[in-house]
Amino acid sequence: MNSDRESAREQMVAVQLEARGIRDRRVLDAFRRVPRECFVPEEGTAEAYGDHALPIGLGQTISQPYIVAFMTESLRPKPDSHILEIGTGSGYQAAVLAELVEEVDTVELVPELAEQAEERLRRLGYNNVHVSQGDGYSGWPQKAPFDAILVTAAAEEVPPALTEQLKEGGKLILPIGAPDGCQELTMVTKREDGGCETKPLMSVRFVPFQRGKSDCGGSQTEGLE
Ligand code: SAH
Repeated sequence: MNSDRESAREQMVAVQLEARGIRDRRVLDAFRRVPRECFVPEEGTAEAYGDHALPIGLGQTISQPYIVAFMTESLRPKPDSHILEIGTGSGYQAAVLAELVEEVDTVELVPELAEQAEERLRRLGYNNVHVSQGDGYSGWPQKAPFDAILVTAAAEEVPPALTEQLKEGGKLILPIGAPDGCQELTMVTKREDGGCETKPLMSVRFVPFQRGKSDCGGSQTEGLE
């Protein structure tokens, strides 16, 4: 059983990632280690290593492995990096990052998903990931600044708090565009003078970035631990 999963992972890395140009050895090794089948609902485990996104319940999806790998590699994660993810979902992307860097903070809007991801990541031993439930539009100010920020839901504009919470030289990757169509995966790099450079990376399709209820001008994120 275990070796079946290992060979499914090895095959995914060779066919879906290396063959399509993912080169960073550390990133490829992280994909060899994270048990993707643990991040999908039970009825989806047979499909866990398929070359596509999968539903994780509540209308949300776990992204296609290649997209997770492409975004991860584009962030140029270093062992001492501190990374923020907006859109925890299943926690898979956070687990991949946790294999590569010192600390990962991740914010999820939907309480059930945040709780499930937190529990799953604990169970799998990812103690360097912190999950917070709230609207990621305001980032996670108490944990800033970050070396890199990744948004895994499609926004129509760059949330200003996210560039504010980046270190100088830091990178923000997010899909920008209409929620019901294709979006442009975009890399924003914060320059030393505080300005930003924006570069389109590829065309993608993500679930929409939603806004939390904000009856007092913005929802506050709250750690689950
Ligand atoms: N990274 C995830 C996939 C994310 S799907 C994984 O590896 O499984 C996008 C997620 O973004 C969904 O779980 C959705 O609930 C969440 N989301 C949407 N808008 C959000 C917001 N404003 N703040 C935080 N999370 C948000």
